[in-house]
Amino acid sequence: MRSMLTRSVTIAAATAATIATISTFPGHAAEPAAPNAVPIALHCPRLIDTDAGKLLGESTIVIDGKRIREVRSGHAKVEGAQDIELKDVTCLPGLIDSHTHLTDQTSPTAYNDQFRWNAADYAIRSTVYARRTLDAGFTTVRNVGDSDYNSVALRNAINAGVVPGPRIFTAGTAIGSTGGHADPTNGYRQDLAGDAGAKDGMINSPEDAWKAIREHYKNGADLIKIMPSGGVLDESSSVDNAQLTIAEIQAVVAAAHDYGFTVAAHAHGAEAIRRAVIGGVDSIEHGTFMNDDDMKLMKEHGTWYVPTIIAGKFVQEKAEIPGYYPAQVAAKARMVGPIIQATAGRAYKAGVKIAFGTDAAVYPHGQNAKEFQYMVEAGMPPMFTIQAATTHAAQLLKHDKDIGSIAAGKFADVIAVPGNPLDDISLMQKVGFVMKEGQVFKADGKEQTPLAQIDAPATTARGEELQGY
Ligand SMILES: [Zn+2]
Repeated sequence: MRSMLTRSVTIAAATAATIATISTFPGHAAEPAAPNAVPIALHCPRLIDTDAGKLLGESTIVIDGKRIREVRSGHAKVEGAQDIELKDVTCLPGLIDSHTHLTDQTSPTAYNDQFRWNAADYAIRSTVYARRTLDAGFTTVRNVGDSDYNSVALRNAINAGVVPGPRIFTAGTAIGSTGGHADPTNGYRQDLAGDAGAKDGMINSPEDAWKAIREHYKNGADLIKIMPSGGVLDESSSVDNAQLTIAEIQAVVAAAHDYGFTVAAHAHGAEAIRRAVIGGVDSIEHGTFMNDDDMKLMKEHGTWYVPTIIAGKFVQEKAEIPGYYPAQVAAKARMVGPIIQATAGRAYKAGVKIAFGTDAAVYPHGQNAKEFQYMVEAGMPPMFTIQAATTHAAQLLKHDKDIGSIAAGKFADVIAVPGNPLDDISLMQKVGFVMKEGQVFKADGKEQTPLAQIDAPATTARGEELQGY
């Protein structure tokens, strides 16, 4: 990994501006980063074409500013370009994690911390989690649940170049029913629990659903996350009961479509999955107790499945540590943990569409790529798992025009791993090079910090042509 990146700049006049975007200059926060002044020719010994599902040999990726101009085979000479040579690696498109919670992270004190930490405590930590995620090769995430819309602020800070991190599409706070998995006050004593309503995402009628979606639009969400079934980490009793009616889910989906939102549905139980699919959601998250009828229904409706195997494994392991989770949570973790991986394998065999997602925060941020190994163990071919984290996840986001493969016109999101990950999928955990939108954030396995540009306008992720990235 050590000499993976050797850089040779061919145009002397452009050197200062170009190097400034890819070198470490801490403390220069007020200076805007110069856009790449000259094209970059990124030379890869091998490249995975995720559109075709093929491993290509030596290739040259030509990058103009934030986007890919063209991909040429061989070690191409590009007139006027700055060359970046990668050795002994395979290049892939920047990875996409379809299920993260970047503003939170597991800890044995997490259930107590929520009474002591302010929103700012979570927000500051989230910038570190975002960096770890980017360093692991994930240049885009779908963030499906936060508190106080703090992931909207994180997204805007990353888009404005204030802090480094993946491109975030966020659902803001999750939507569910009173006492359900999305209710943050489960387990609280009654005088503290209050009675959250639609404004806070607790819906108990189709009318409430409309209010909750419109509130998310107002607060800058990019998509919607609902909790139609019980879950593991809240302190209520059931992990899989149905917690939203079909009418409520249909109202969520109808309202979401008015605003161009997709809908992700956390669901462990078979009945909750059935209702969510009939209700028209875009994806089922976790899906632990998914039965054959659910899988058939998902194929009919074209519903995506985001398994999050790593989260099941992690909670199962921590449930055995006394006091790590409240007792009720540990009991549910023991039920769900052992099952998700087998469900993912069955869903793959049944032909359900699968997008890569991990539930990062349930396990420590930055370990996202372990999921590849778990997916392969479940019976998925390595190339399929990589497509799940690139082309498939981009389709689920409805941004496959801009991300998911290394192709002309798309964002210059490129990562590299040593060797060939199709022969050894664990190499996906050894990302040594990360480029996002033409800027190098990791090279030779070391973090690179482009200049922060705090004077750049903060923009949302939903603008025309992904404006603002
Ligand atoms: Zn989650």
